[in-house]
This record gives sequence, C-alpha cells and structure tokens, in this order.
Amino acid sequence: MGMFPRMLLGFLWAVSAVAAENGTAPHAPPLLLVSFDGFRADYLQRFPMPNLKLLYSQGVLVDQLTNVFITKTFPNHYSLVTGLYAESHGILASSMYDPVTQKHFSLQNDSDPMWWSAAQPLWLTALDSGYKTAAAMWPGSDVTNRTPTHFFPYNRSVTFGQRLGNVTQWLMGDGKEPGAMFAALYWEEPDQSGHTFGPENTTAMAKVLKEVDDNIGLLMRELNRTGLWGRINLIVTSDHGMAQCSADRLIRLDDCLHPDNYTLVDLTPVAALIPNDSETAFISLSKCHPHMTAYMKKSIPDRLHYRNNVRIQPIILVADEGWTIVKQGNKLPRLGDHGYDNSLPSMHPFLVAAGPSFRRGFRMKSLQSVDVYPLMCRLLSVPAQPNNGSLVRAQCLLAGETCWDVSMVVGLVVGVLLLLSAITVLFRFMRSPRSSGSRPFQRLDILYDDDEPLVP
Ligand SMILES: [Zn+2]
Repeated sequence: MGMFPRMLLGFLWAVSAVAAENGTAPHAPPLLLVSFDGFRADYLQRFPMPNLKLLYSQGVLVDQLTNVFITKTFPNHYSLVTGLYAESHGILASSMYDPVTQKHFSLQNDSDPMWWSAAQPLWLTALDSGYKTAAAMWPGSDVTNRTPTHFFPYNRSVTFGQRLGNVTQWLMGDGKEPGAMFAALYWEEPDQSGHTFGPENTTAMAKVLKEVDDNIGLLMRELNRTGLWGRINLIVTSDHGMAQCSADRLIRLDDCLHPDNYTLVDLTPVAALIPNDSETAFISLSKCHPHMTAYMKKSIPDRLHYRNNVRIQPIILVADEGWTIVKQGNKLPRLGDHGYDNSLPSMHPFLVAAGPSFRRGFRMKSLQSVDVYPLMCRLLSVPAQPNNGSLVRAQCLLAGETCWDVSMVVGLVVGVLLLLSAITVLFRFMRSPRSSGSRPFQRLDILYDDDEPLVP
C-alpha cells in the first residue's frame, strides 16, 4: 500500500516541476505594478468602477489582500516590492526613531538609505538580473543610494497622466535599447480624499473613485495605443484601506500618562513610545482606554509580525478600528484613517491583474500581500530574495500553472486513500475463496448444491 502514495507524490512533483519550468521561460513579458493609495477593498462593491471591472473581467480579481501591520503607506508599499513583513524590511511606520543611529524618519525626511537597506526591492533584483527597471513615485524608489534605471524624485504635483506617459515610454524603450522589464507606478488617491472626507462620505468618495476609475481607463487606453496591452502583465492594487473616524472616538494620551514620562515617536492609530520607566508607564497605559490596547514590545502578538526590529519602540498602543489617539483636546485630525490591525477588512485593499500570464475571469477571495512579491518574481523569471510570502496560493492566479488549492489537495489525498483501501479490500475479497474457502462462498456453494437435485 505504501508504494501507491509514493508514486502519486512523484507524479505530483513531476507535474509541478514541469509547471515551474514553463513559468521560468526565458522570454517573460514585462510587468507593470500600479498602486492607487488607500483603495479599500469594498469600494469595488460600493461604487461603479466600470473601467476597473472591465480590466478584471479580462484577468483576475482578489477581493481582499491581507496587508501587513502597521497598515500604513510606506510599510505596505515596501512589503509589496520585497515580500517582507515590516519588522523584516525595516520601514515600520511613517514616523520612526532608530536607537542605533539615533536618526529620525518622517515622510518629509525619508531619504537616508539606511532606513531602506535591510531589504532589496524588486526593481533592484530585476536590475541585477540584467533588466532595466522603472518607478514613478513608488515609495522608496527615489531615496536609496541605488535606484531603478528610470525614476522620478517624489513630486505630488506630477499628474497621473504624466506619470503614466513616462512609464509607458520606459516600458517600450527607445528602439535601440530594450524597454524596462519591471515598472512601478504610484498614485495618491483615493487615500487623500479618504483622509479628508472619511470613507463613509459617499458623495465625496464617489467623486474621487470616479477619477481613479477614469485613470484606470486612461491606463488601459494608453497601453492599447502603445501596443503594450496584451504584451505585458499588469497588476493593479493598493497598500491599505480606510476607516471612518469621529470626534466622538478620541483617546487622549495625556489623560493617562504625563508627557514628561515618555518620548513620543508615533501617535495614531498605533502610538510608539519610549517611556522613562517601562513598568509604571505600561500599567498606566494598559488601563488608559477600553478602545486602546497597550503592548510591551516583547508581548506584541506573533500574528502581527511586528516585534523583531530595533526600530519598534518599548511600548506600542493600538487603537480599535475608527478610534483616534490624540495628545489632548477635542480636535479630530482626520475623518478617515488607516494603520489599524491588519486583520480588519476595512484595512484591506484589493488586487486585480491581467495579461498573458494571468487566468481570465478568475476570482479569489483573499491573498496575503507578501505573496505578491514571489508572484512578481515568477512573472519576471528573476530569483526571489528571502521573503515572507509564498507562491502556493498566488500561482492560482496564473494561466497554465497547477493550482494547489488546499481543499483540493486534501480532497485528492482522501480520495486516493479511499480508492487504495477499496482496491486492497477487493483484492483480499477476490483472493480469499480459493485459498481458504471463507464462509460466504461456502454458503453459496451449499445453496448451489441444494439447488442441483431440482435440475432434471
Ligand atoms: Zn497609503
């Protein structure tokens, strides 16, 4: 019996090896990765988005992408291009303090390469494989000492159309030199409007999501016009969602702990503190507010993957969904915010992809955002750097790949075991009458014998 499962396993390995070889064919299509910042997954159900729907009708849709904690812009954009959790790639928040170098990081002061150097983003890995790469405003693409072949210094006033025009130029090449093999394109909306108006402001969100959808239409038209459509793989995704905040849901830090007792590194919705005395500060903070959880660094839950880095401060405070941590007062800084627990659906973005390597009309409920990186490495045939992602689920999105859905594998194994048991029982059953003459057959013989005298 042991031999059949082994043969089956061997067969499965052979099938997956052939699939893997097909995936690493030498002429991989170029890849364009587009992020619309703060595109909460359920916007797709709440608003029309005709162009985005047209796009995924020709490719694949992942309803929810489980992103990384903290669910902020920089950590998640770096996770998408490295496949690493924030604790591993080192971009842990929008405001950071590094106790080793004693340096401070903020959105206005993010250009020191030391912040970014723990990980190698895909535009560098693809560069090392001999390809040209490009990035338009993707966080981190213009700040390190080593950049993609083509990039822009960050400038929010460059329009989507201008960014896109450059990206298609870079992908096409100039006739003499080959085009970029990998390009990343970033756009600030609907994040800005989500912060300003709150995701529950249907009128304001409908307006900005119409603009975002128009930009997706422009993207598809531009790829068609330049002949890139159908020749490149396209992934459209985002970094995080958005939660509705309210002046009725404020947590005042000064009510719990006097400001002289700590240094504040980051405030909301995940506060990072360096206390003068950890034990006493933790006792005050842990009973501060029913909608805020305090963690000593060593007790931050494993599932958040947010502990093993010197840039994570001794105490972090995590606000519940929709709650805002302030120092004092009654002023709500933003009507919408993100950064909360990455298990919350409101924090999840979506993913859509289309192109020669993707299945058509395929829909998947969820995927980890760290899985996008190994998927992109497979698409580009470049070796993946060590990462926290996996191809097991992501390759279900690809055409011509064996898709090992967990329930399907379990069903297959159970089915094969049942079949083998049935065969074994059948063999025993068939062999038994001649060798030992077991009871059921003897009775049949007796019946036969009894009948015989009746035959004339
Ligand atoms: Zn963002």
